[in-house]
Amino acid sequence: MSKFKLTDNEWKEKLTTEEFEVLRNSGTERPFTGKYVDHKDPGTYICAGCGSDLFSSESKFNSGTGWPSFFKAINQNKVSSKTDSSYGMIRTEVICKNCDSHLGHVFNDGPKPTGLRYCINSISLKHKPKKK
Ligand code: FE
Repeated sequence: MSKFKLTDNEWKEKLTTEEFEVLRNSGTERPFTGKYVDHKDPGTYICAGCGSDLFSSESKFNSGTGWPSFFKAINQNKVSSKTDSSYGMIRTEVICKNCDSHLGHVFNDGPKPTGLRYCINSISLKHKPKKK
């Protein structure tokens, strides 16, 4: 699969300032401010950068953290992770495999069956409603 690639200037044209800060600069939206924190509609959350399918509403859970949280990605081929040692913490950053945009982080304190908690910025996602 060919990857989705844009220059920095093209990203700036495509995204809002807030989206650019999170997706391309690995920023983090403030907790409890994102539009998908308490969102429960069935469907698929796609990448706000490239439209790739990332998370299903079926794996979304209420983590209480203030960010949309999922216990798994829709498919392991859709996301990749890398070590993030910023801010004096060792965390695992989650990025969209198709366009390398920053999504959030993944932690090992999630619910069954995976035990994972994908802590994702709302602004990195767009919800695609399930077809009736
Ligand atoms: Fe993407």
